[in-house]
Amino acid sequence: MAVFPMWIGGREVTTAQRRPVVLPFDGSVVGEVFEATPEVVDHALACAAAAARVMRALPRHERSAILRRAQALLLASRDEIARTIASECGKPIREALVEVDRAAGTLGFSAEEAHRLAGEVVPLDASPAGVGRMAMTVREPLGVVAAITPFNFPLNLPMHKIAPALAAGNAVVHKPASWTPLAALQMARLFAESGLPDGALNVITGPGGSIGERLALDPRVAMITFTGSAEVGMRLRSLAGMKKVTLELGNNSAVIICADADLEAAAPRCVTGSFAHSGQVCISVQRIFVEAGVRGEFLERLADGARRLRIGHPLDAQTDVSSLITEGEAARVSEWIEEARQAGGQLITGGRRLHRATIEPAVVAEAPDSVRLSCQEAFGPVVCINGYQTLEEAIARVNASPYGLQASIFTRDLTTAFRAAQQVHVGGFLINESPQFRADQMPYGGVKQSGMGREGPKYAIEEMTEPKLIIWKI
Ligand code: NAP
Repeated sequence: MAVFPMWIGGREVTTAQRRPVVLPFDGSVVGEVFEATPEVVDHALACAAAAARVMRALPRHERSAILRRAQALLLASRDEIARTIASECGKPIREALVEVDRAAGTLGFSAEEAHRLAGEVVPLDASPAGVGRMAMTVREPLGVVAAITPFNFPLNLPMHKIAPALAAGNAVVHKPASWTPLAALQMARLFAESGLPDGALNVITGPGGSIGERLALDPRVAMITFTGSAEVGMRLRSLAGMKKVTLELGNNSAVIICADADLEAAAPRCVTGSFAHSGQVCISVQRIFVEAGVRGEFLERLADGARRLRIGHPLDAQTDVSSLITEGEAARVSEWIEEARQAGGQLITGGRRLHRATIEPAVVAEAPDSVRLSCQEAFGPVVCINGYQTLEEAIARVNASPYGLQASIFTRDLTTAFRAAQQVHVGGFLINESPQFRADQMPYGGVKQSGMGREGPKYAIEEMTEPKLIIWKI
């Protein structure tokens, strides 16, 4: 069995406390990691603080070249790292390969942004007091960035933090999710091979409750960038004091299907959007509102698509849907489906708990908006579908959510599409596309309990640098 030491200051670090990492589909052990002690966390922060000075002095072209080399090394290890992702988080291997390709893209976009990182000239003589002076801003790195990431995309979500932070000249301490730390540990070795200075990226493993909070409280950390649940995100923000904080949190993504929509195109996008990685995607489609006239036809298409998905082992290339991350999560999702049924929702298809943590893709019709399956984040292979009479009603129901990451509408009518785009309160609104769509260069982030700040290398770099003003008198 492979043992994966932590990576700190350019070296492997182990402790006495070990922890197995399992393949969620069958519970087999796929690797072993170590739990960081408070001394190890302190060491990682000291290494990062020293490396932050080196990174700040590194010219942009060198930062960019390191990221390009890391991209090439990642693509050369594509199959191996995809197998790691599939094994540690139970993601079907086809999706794991896509995640590796996307992470390589995130590295490439970050390498480009390292070149573009610039300030602006400030026209001081626009005010009488400024006459005879000139000014400009330069973008300076913050120093040490602490990155804390969830289990569901164990490579690309860390990459959305690490690559922009390095492009901007920062050093990073990364704490991956305890269920899925292996891909990040493998990636840290590839960064080292790419010529990244020792200490610029440190990956420590162990429980978020203790390590994450230690990072949030340490004065050497200038910024916390967190992706995960709203509960933990809010806790971190309350601890962070004056540190910069970026939070990428949950959602219960909604789609509006109008009567004039191209149902043939919309239904398969909603099937993929609902059931990819067993719905364990922050922008997974969870609530579909369909205009009354086409509700029956759309429901048939959706249920048919759900029934056709192949359930199986994540390493089987034919598998569409595999297990959830833990048996506990599977039990929670089953309970929520049952609660919706008891409250009057109809289970149209799926929902059976198969072995261990696998649940058949489920479609639930007309569950009341008040049940947990509708109003909280399900993070499982289940989608709710409800009919609506007017666009105003549909928009009000989409907005009646504590979350606001992404939402979408399918319609052939431009006025309807843009009315919805203006009125739905989210970070990103999509027209004739599933809200589960994400391209890695786009600005990505939410409103309300879905978080604060934006990712996508260009936007993450803005969060990870500070504009310094320089004025000179002529
Ligand atoms: P989670 O339980 O919030 O954990 C996320 C990370 O936080 C893990 O590394 C975890 O460590 C750590 N952590 C736990 N308690 C902590 C604490 N008190 N202080 C500091 N760190 C702590 O989330 P998850 O279950 O892994 O992921 C699912 C959630 O992530 C969903 O809500 C999903 O919507 C969200 N998500 C959002 C996005 C986005 O971009 N908006 C993307 C993906 C996922 P341990 O693993 O050691 O507990």
